[in-house]
Amino acid sequence: MNQLSLSLPAWITSFLNEQPKIIAEQEAQMRFVLALTERNIREKTGGPFGSAVFEIASGKLVSVGVNVVVQQNCSAAHAEMMALMLAQKELSNFDLGAADFPAHRLVTSGKMCAMCLGNVCWSGVKEVLSSAEPEDVESIAGFDEGPTPPDYNAQLENRGINIVPGLLRSEGQRVLQLYVDLGGLVYNPKRN
Ligand SMILES: [Zn+2]
Repeated sequence: MNQLSLSLPAWITSFLNEQPKIIAEQEAQMRFVLALTERNIREKTGGPFGSAVFEIASGKLVSVGVNVVVQQNCSAAHAEMMALMLAQKELSNFDLGAADFPAHRLVTSGKMCAMCLGNVCWSGVKEVLSSAEPEDVESIAGFDEGPTPPDYNAQLENRGINIVPGLLRSEGQRVLQLYVDLGGLVYNPKRN
């Protein structure tokens, strides 16, 4: 094997066809991402996480991602990773912060785990909006957020990445609870 291919679930295409292509407001962007996440839960196509990349100034949707770890047999296939990789592929550039690009933001249903925090730093996004907090992800759903730094927000700000955590947090918590209530699989659980 010398090639890698990752896919989002087939329903993504019809979901996007029913959604606006430009969403200007931050809360509206988050509601879009939480609807995407809820769809992934109800379709049983992955873990309870969704993300999207938007142009900050215009609100243009660049890409979406949902968690497809189990379906794709890939521990790296978190929603944030999928959205960032697909945005970079869409723009044919590994750096979403390239000089001739408009500034981009990642909108994500849960605050990034250790892996996704790292990729956010390399991705070139200028801003992150997140809903559920790491303690919500661990306490409600039982997933492991990994070794994130105690000064999480400051680490991003120091790199020039603005973070708006806890946006519509109770809605983000509700979506995590829905996954639990529907008997969703907790892969890579928190191990003590
Ligand atoms: Zn992650």
